[in-house]
Amino acid sequence: MSETYTTIIGLEVHVQLATDSKLFCGCSTRFGAEPNTQTCPVCIGMPGTLPVMNRRAFELALRTAVALDCEIPAFTKWDRKQYYYPDLPKNYQISQYDLPMSQHGHLDIRDPKGAFATKRVRILRAHLEEDAGKSLHDEVAGKGDSLIDLNRTGTPLLEIVTEPDLRSPLEAKTFLSELKLLLTYIGVSDCNMQEGSLRVDANINLHIPASSTDPPRPGCPSDQGKHTIATPIVEIKNMNSFRAVERALEYEAGRLWHEWQETHRKLGEVPKLTRGWDDVAGVTRGQRSKEESSDYRYFPDPDLAPVTVSPAEVELVRGSLGELPAALRARLQDGFALSSYDADVLINQGQAVVVYFLEVAESAGDAKAAANWVTQDVLRVLKETNTTLDSLGLPAARLAELIRQIKLGDVPGPRAREVFQAMIERRVDVAAALESLGIAAVDESELIALASKLLAANPKTISDVRAGKAQAVGALIGQAKKQNPNIDPTRFREICLQLIETAL
Ligand code: ZN
Ligand code: MN
Repeated sequence: MSETYTTIIGLEVHVQLATDSKLFCGCSTRFGAEPNTQTCPVCIGMPGTLPVMNRRAFELALRTAVALDCEIPAFTKWDRKQYYYPDLPKNYQISQYDLPMSQHGHLDIRDPKGAFATKRVRILRAHLEEDAGKSLHDEVAGKGDSLIDLNRTGTPLLEIVTEPDLRSPLEAKTFLSELKLLLTYIGVSDCNMQEGSLRVDANINLHIPASSTDPPRPGCPSDQGKHTIATPIVEIKNMNSFRAVERALEYEAGRLWHEWQETHRKLGEVPKLTRGWDDVAGVTRGQRSKEESSDYRYFPDPDLAPVTVSPAEVELVRGSLGELPAALRARLQDGFALSSYDADVLINQGQAVVVYFLEVAESAGDAKAAANWVTQDVLRVLKETNTTLDSLGLPAARLAELIRQIKLGDVPGPRAREVFQAMIERRVDVAAALESLGIAAVDESELIALASKLLAANPKTISDVRAGKAQAVGALIGQAKKQNPNIDPTRFREICLQLIETAL
């Protein structure tokens, strides 16, 4: 198989914005309530009711759009997207069509393992819309009954659409992780996929170099002077995790390639297709041909006033965003010399952990040691005890003090973890933890006395070391630890070797 193809992927992400109430009425958006208990005449589409925009939802959408470096038009309006479906009581969804609240942004992605170069993924647009309800199919009872829960109807969603800039399933997965990180950092969504707060549809097709006998296909997007054929675009739905998105795209790229080989040069005009991902079987299945936007008969919603946004408002939002994950990552790697792995571990834990790390690193004067303690020990304790940094009982200043005292030799290195544990359990500082454990720093004269005593009792060690076997000292370290568990083994070893040498 000498032919190769380019995989072209674009994503459509629906993010539930973290508001208490719905987009056009006062109903709660809380997840998990009894079906149809969070509805009102507005969101179930009773005639004569009027929607009123939730200002908070618009603010969160604006925050996201600015964080994605989108252009924010001064004027944006609402449109009705019309289709009939049982979970849509009005028979139209209030969305945004030709004047979305933001467009032309971007998000940069990178692969820590270097599988692809750092790249900029363009955002075509991000617009606000309301969610539909949820169909519940009674498969358990085997009757095939379907019921509708309208609690979700009218929940504010931000639909984020990328340009088809992604070139592999891994890039798509990486984009989603980076987007989720950004959205949780700026506090606009919890991005909980299990609860439907983040839903992904993926568009994929293949661009295949054509042989000279193929007819030219003007209008093919990648046909910039080259002779390329594009397979039909497939939209994949029903993916419940980022890993599922990656698997579904891998499967679909293979399926499209296989189909292309079977129908080689007989493609003709194939409409866009929608396929659903079956996670258990690991395959996509055909659903329906994809609607064109003309099928929805969009028109401006006469019940809602357009929204205006001033440049001053945009700048206010920009100023309130704080340091975004990409900038923070660069600061950790460049300013604190952390590995990209350590930087990612910290950033993926969220802002609180990063701020804690920065305090420890600055106060201890040792970023590498701070990163080790935070990523290994602090995160382990948080996980084991299922607690947060606030209730951990180890302020950053205390951890910094521990790191400093280990370096100074005031806390014996081998017992540092015990001290750390005692500081957390008893909620005390280093000095009190040392006292509670009965650890006193062993001073130099004590070490010398202990080394002299043990050497005198072990003449064979001395002769072995003199015969060139320096490792013979190891036996003495074990004995010394039994007599005083607080000794620093490295320093003790150095002292033994010095004593043997000077006794010559
Ligand atoms: Zn309502
Ligand atoms: Mn949508």
